[in-house]
Amino acid sequence: MLTSDYKRCPKCRTMIFDPASKLGAMSHPTPCCGTSGQPRFIWPSPETLKFLELVGNQDLSNQDGFRIGIVFLSSTLELLLEDSLREQLWRHVKTADLTDYLLQTVRGRDSRLRLYAAPYGMNFKGVMVSLGKVAFLDLWDKLAAARNEIAHGKYVMGGKITQNELVQIQQECLSVFAVLQNHASTGKPYVPTA
Ligand SMILES: [Zn+2]
Repeated sequence: MLTSDYKRCPKCRTMIFDPASKLGAMSHPTPCCGTSGQPRFIWPSPETLKFLELVGNQDLSNQDGFRIGIVFLSSTLELLLEDSLREQLWRHVKTADLTDYLLQTVRGRDSRLRLYAAPYGMNFKGVMVSLGKVAFLDLWDKLAAARNEIAHGKYVMGGKITQNELVQIQQECLSVFAVLQNHASTGKPYVPTA
């Protein structure tokens, strides 16, 4: 059973930290806008949670497990970025067709990070600096470099990223993306607790 400590408000789409699953009861009001009576979205998607679970199932001290962890954690972040970008685009372009078109045509991590940051008039690193999350971006850059080495047939073991760094990304990725999304939607990098 895949579970997450986060949910998305069905009304204002704010990310909510809900470790005690209080929002499982539809009568419990959301802490963002107080909506009740509607099912709340579990976030992230089941696919994303499955990738995270696969990372968690690896023995990262083992070379093969470490490589598999790099690949699946990279896929996790790609899905989280696509989800964030979809929310970001929807807010700005307001049409599903244009949002889908942009997601289909703007591929690759660097292009997508530029598109994500474009409404802020800065690059993605600038956004992460303003949120106090640039250390996470540095780790994500290392992970992307390790993933590229594997994609190009090179064997990786701690050359681009260490086991501890990989675990840190695994543990922080949901909280970082929840902050990013609430910053984009409310202007405040704050994730309310249910
Ligand atoms: Zn709300």
